[in-house]
Amino acid sequence: MFSTVVLGGGWAGLVYALELRRRFLSTDVLVIDKSTQLGGLLRSEAVNGFTFDVGGSHVIFSGNKEILSRMLGFLGNGFVKHERKSFIRIGDALVPYPLENGLYALPLEDRADALIAFLEVQMNRAVDWRPSNLDEWIHGFFGKWIAKKYLVPYNRKIWKRDLREIDVDWVYTPGRLPIPDWRDVVKSAMGIATVGYREQATFYYPSIGGIQTLYSSALREAESLGIALLSGYAIKSLKKVGDEWIINDEIKAKNIISSIPLNELVTYMNAPEYVIKLSKRLDYNRVLVIGVALNKPAPDQHWVYVPNEDVIFHRYAWISNYSPQNAPRDKSSLLLEITISPWETVKEDWFVNKALRDLMNLGIAGEGDVLFTMYWLHEYGYPVHTIESNRARNEVINWVKEQGITPIGRWGCWRYWNMDKVYEDATNKVVQRFR
Ligand SMILES: Cc1cc2nc3c(=O)[nH]c(=O)nc-3n(C[C@H](O)[C@H](O)[C@H](O)COP(=O)(O)OP(=O)(O)OC[C@H]3O[C@@H](n4cnc5c(N)ncnc54)[C@H](O)[C@@H]3O)c2cc1C
Repeated sequence: MFSTVVLGGGWAGLVYALELRRRFLSTDVLVIDKSTQLGGLLRSEAVNGFTFDVGGSHVIFSGNKEILSRMLGFLGNGFVKHERKSFIRIGDALVPYPLENGLYALPLEDRADALIAFLEVQMNRAVDWRPSNLDEWIHGFFGKWIAKKYLVPYNRKIWKRDLREIDVDWVYTPGRLPIPDWRDVVKSAMGIATVGYREQATFYYPSIGGIQTLYSSALREAESLGIALLSGYAIKSLKKVGDEWIINDEIKAKNIISSIPLNELVTYMNAPEYVIKLSKRLDYNRVLVIGVALNKPAPDQHWVYVPNEDVIFHRYAWISNYSPQNAPRDKSSLLLEITISPWETVKEDWFVNKALRDLMNLGIAGEGDVLFTMYWLHEYGYPVHTIESNRARNEVINWVKEQGITPIGRWGCWRYWNMDKVYEDATNKVVQRFR
């Protein structure tokens, strides 16, 4: 019998096991993953000299210095540091991200309109006003110009839900979308460049091997600490008999930590009908990631947000600029990201062809530039924080915890968390467990 079994060996499962063993070397830990290729969303693939991050554009950043230094610690000296060069496509213009700090790149009239609308809401907002959904948050903090040109179409595109149904809890999470400082917005409208969303203004990336090198380096440490790993083994049932957990009628454990999708976990636990019903309300989007190898150098950009409704992808990233090792000399590579709701039929070829046409229509690549394309579809890409989903999540998590299981990670906790937040939460849960 294992003292601890961690379900799911993506980033969350791996860092939980690591932090547990780093602190309590005598505790035995087994990490189980259904895939034979470990890494979850942090996998990378090398093809013909190009390295693609198959879970989409992943960079390392954090407002939490301790967590950032622990993540970089896995890489030793093997990382590249970048000052973010990301943009939002407004019409044909590329405006530095975030938009409210990049207004200086717009024509004078647009700057004035954006600033007036922005200041209008700052002056009229009551001090204790709280938005009750994403639509209100956007209009209430940014004003109608930025809402109309960017935040509403972009968020509709990525979430594929009515923005009035989406909660605002995730926009207040430190490290995610910040509320703009009006002084910076005025400066940027006057033509002075300012920096917003500072946590991500500097980011890091593994020198070789794509983002998977971060995962693999942590995995090496896990193996050296004696953490047991079982890959290619899907969890299908989880029973409690006395004080013991039994996984798939085969593996026994005293403690279970789960990073597998919460909606699936409760079905494997044979949860009561009301919990299963609630779990069906946990909302999410899939993500289709398209890798494009190009026979030309990349412009001086990292990634670009595309709110344009007629373009199928919401973001494209020049990952050949993340590390020179990601593409051969004088060539470049792009990742395009498309979210797909769970009820939409996925026609991968249609999506890929449309994405390529859009790339060409936007003038990002010409037909003769494309060497080859690849794509990867992930069933679980983005948890969608609808108000209803959040409510269900809290109840389902309470039930899971009552059974004695600790949920961790983006899907175990059903939260729109990046690697740093996943790491921080997993560490806190290790610490709490032995307090
Ligand atoms: C498009 C995109 C871009 C992103 N960009 C960034 C970024 O730039 N920076 C950043 O910090 N974060 C980024 N993230 C977030 C980051 O990917 C996640 O925070 C992190 O990978 C979550 O790790 P996880 O272990 O919680 O989930 P996952 O990586 O999904 O791992 C879950 C694991 O559980 C396994 N599993 C599932 N079901 C079972 C089962 N029944 N039995 C056994 N195993 C099972 C899966 O195989 C998987 O390995 C991005 C995410 C996306 C989708």
